[in-house]
Amino acid sequence: MSFATLGLSDAILRAVTERGYTEPTPIQAQAIPAVLSGGDLLAGAQTGTGKTAGFTLPLLQRLSAQPVSGKAPIRALVLTPTRELAAQVEESVREYGKYLPLKSMMMFGGVNINPQIKQLHGRVDILVATPGRLLDHVQQKTVDLSRVEILVLDEADRMLDMGFIRDIKKILALLPAKRQNLLFSATFSDEIKALADGLLNNPALIEVARRNQANELIEQRVYPVDRERKRALLTQLIKDNNWFQVLVFTRTKHGANNLAEYLNKESISAMAIHGNKSQAARTRALAEFKSGKLQVLCATDIAARGIDISELPHVVNYELPNVAEDYVHRIGRTGRAGSEGEASSLVCIDEHQLLKGIERLIKREIPVVQIPGFEPDPRIKAEPILNGQNRGGGQGRGQGGGQRRPQNGTPRTGGPAPARSGGNTHAKPATAGKPAVHRFGGRGR
Ligand code: AMP
Repeated sequence: MSFATLGLSDAILRAVTERGYTEPTPIQAQAIPAVLSGGDLLAGAQTGTGKTAGFTLPLLQRLSAQPVSGKAPIRALVLTPTRELAAQVEESVREYGKYLPLKSMMMFGGVNINPQIKQLHGRVDILVATPGRLLDHVQQKTVDLSRVEILVLDEADRMLDMGFIRDIKKILALLPAKRQNLLFSATFSDEIKALADGLLNNPALIEVARRNQANELIEQRVYPVDRERKRALLTQLIKDNNWFQVLVFTRTKHGANNLAEYLNKESISAMAIHGNKSQAARTRALAEFKSGKLQVLCATDIAARGIDISELPHVVNYELPNVAEDYVHRIGRTGRAGSEGEASSLVCIDEHQLLKGIERLIKREIPVVQIPGFEPDPRIKAEPILNGQNRGGGQGRGQGGGQRRPQNGTPRTGGPAPARSGGNTHAKPATAGKPAVHRFGGRGR
């Protein structure tokens, strides 16, 4: 299938071709005609599927097909959970709309409000905003949402996770009743269903395969290691394999900072990115990482959400996430849109339960690679992972602030970790100098 068959104008097709896309992704092939038809849409798609173009392209098409003369009102509103995502979506709007006479604006907190007020005095057809700052503008009466024709909630599940439901409801109350609503979410909790029920009118339903099930290009590996030796193992992996552009996930902001500091001491350039950092620091870290100047970016789940870096070669789970779905989000950062990627997880004895949960979710076992010299010490017992905190002082989860349940509803409470599939929990001795690939339980694949 080609983009040309989807009913998009030449101006949009030209921008898409220049971006280098030759055919629509599955979400685009379904969402574009659905949005063009003018109805509401409920789409189950996570980042990495091409969902942004899935709503941006038809949105641009609809607005440009009915131009407004004079000082145009804000006609489309896209709400996103994070500043990074707002910036990326707005960048896409600008890029795909570069041959159209439409103006877009991004709006998020953590930066001076005055330039935004000034920009709102000019023409803005499409506003991409995070809910909090948008409400600041509403309060100051610097934004008028009374003529919005299309509303997009992007990554709605994350917005709810981050506690934005009340803000969203306040914003909905300011929009005209007659409008088109598009809701994108990676997951469908009861809360999302309730939001969708109240918001959407007879929506088209689209769900694309989760990346974990669809994407065979991501090579996943588990590296068994003791918790105290993870830093050394990560250093060795990065140096031995000459990894560049490595996105490393930690459970806590504190952990991200510590790890970045350690790696820098080991002559590996690294920065931490999380909610406590200023917007300027986050933008700088991301830009240096994208350009390849920065070798490693250490991030918490929420900070990393919305970072759009295509063809990211390496994602490392320095610590496994408490919520199995987060594993899927994390590894979705690599092997995106057709390029190969590697997702490595450093797993200590405390995390065997979490690993089981992840494998259950992705419906496959992740091959285990034992790096010689890092074989876990069988005398070390599992310790609890409580509420996302590391032993020895994390600060809770990232910006999400502990609102999410750990997997299986309960935190781990210590005791020896159950052995995986048949007793022989740990690695077979590896042949000298060569990593062995095998299963924890000794079952080959
Ligand atoms: P998204 O899920 O919107 O974050 O997009 C994921 C990545 O896929 C981004 O880097 C896009 O630039 C890229 N992408 C989106 N649509 C296509 C397409 N039709 N062909 C190739 N790459 C695409």
